[in-house]
Amino acid sequence: MTNETWGQVREELIKRVGKNNYVTWIEPLRLADLHEGVARFEVPTVFFGDWVQRNYADHIRTELVSAGASVDRVEFALGNGAVPVASPAKPVAKAARPRAALAEDLPGAPLDARFTFDSFVVGKPNELAHAAARRVAEGGPVTFNPLFLYGGVGLGKTHLMHAIAHELHKRSPGLSVLYLSAEQFMYRFVQALRERQVMDFKSLFRSVDVLMVDDVQFIAGKDSTQEEFFHTFNALVDLNKQIVISADRAPGEIKDLEDRIKSRLQCGLVVDLHPTDYELRLGILQQKVEYYRSQYRGLVLADGVLEFLAHRITSNVRILEGALTRLFAFASLVGREITLDLTQDCLADILRSSDRKLSIEEIQRKVAEHYNIRLSDMIGPKRLRNIARPRQVAMYLSKQLTHRSLPEIGRRFGGRDHTTIMHGVRKIEELMALDSQLADDLQLLRRLLQG
Ligand code: ADP
Ligand code: MG
Repeated sequence: MTNETWGQVREELIKRVGKNNYVTWIEPLRLADLHEGVARFEVPTVFFGDWVQRNYADHIRTELVSAGASVDRVEFALGNGAVPVASPAKPVAKAARPRAALAEDLPGAPLDARFTFDSFVVGKPNELAHAAARRVAEGGPVTFNPLFLYGGVGLGKTHLMHAIAHELHKRSPGLSVLYLSAEQFMYRFVQALRERQVMDFKSLFRSVDVLMVDDVQFIAGKDSTQEEFFHTFNALVDLNKQIVISADRAPGEIKDLEDRIKSRLQCGLVVDLHPTDYELRLGILQQKVEYYRSQYRGLVLADGVLEFLAHRITSNVRILEGALTRLFAFASLVGREITLDLTQDCLADILRSSDRKLSIEEIQRKVAEHYNIRLSDMIGPKRLRNIARPRQVAMYLSKQLTHRSLPEIGRRFGGRDHTTIMHGVRKIEELMALDSQLADDLQLLRRLLQG
């Protein structure tokens, strides 16, 4: 591979991963060596290497291959010791940028204008979360800190957080409200470390009036980020600034989160968003339909369609919304009335997948078959790799393809603890990025199981 190839590939990668990710994660990579199908890159820290391996290795490999290089695998290693043969890309540790750089792009994430309290439909499953969010959005003296919102995917956590931010902006435009995902928090932190601007980072975060961090489970296991988050959190609480946190599970259930952080998170008000019920789903559909009616004038919606959808699509609100969007787009395209028949045709795939209740036993059986092990070994105690790995694959697929909780899955794997299941799931996630054979196996099994 020539220097040009990597240059060209980097251009493509900007398009693929976006400018920000590119600058943070790809630009600092230094191609050290390409030998027997393995492309080796130098990275500044172990953490950096892990991160790039997990998130960008596939992209990088794919782009290298399409640029004509024969690469089966990409590896990342610490700078020293590797043999630099290719382009002297960029020095690994960049010189510190001017101080203004970090403060300039105040690290908030953009708010979605549609996520307001007005557009949030309140029902039994979310009324407490909604009330707490409203309370925070009123501003005024901090009564509970933090507000911790948790619940499954697509149940409205992000929506509520954005709604709080919108409302606060409206009521007190001078207030500095910072909303960002935990991933962005980490990303900023790592960037600050790299550019030796940790002090700026600290003072920036400590200067906000309201801090909202979405999907905080993400920082579990990421030690230095956790640590920094903890300090930021404490500093703001001491200053009596409001904090709002979301996660996909309760503080106590987030694995690899330090105990002191868990207990801090539990100090305020912890509320969960329950899975939607039929009434809430119908309410959401009715509200969205108002919007679509204005977008697609003249479209006729037959009676019973919304009820049908609310009844059949129970997984999460995001999928429900997606179904409705597709339905209206399709009907307007073919210029037909939205009937039950049309709905069933147009949404066949979504309906099928929310229909099929795959059992954990089915998954275990298929996986055992595929790897040629006995079904009883799925639940048995053997720890040999050739049994343990397929077992972990089955755990992973059970988590992905069923709605069972980790403890429930654990029970069906011979009464294993939920942490064992979580470990198994993580292990497979990790290996998948490195082991293309495993990735293929999983794809195949998934196809077989979802039929
Ligand atoms: P989460 O962050 O919990 O995964 P989101 O807040 O992103 O979920 O919600 C997913 C989608 O569902 C968003 O488009 C959101 O507007 C919508 N949604 C979720 N709950 C409600 C609700 N109660 N009323 C209206 N829309 C909702
Ligand atoms: Mg979210």
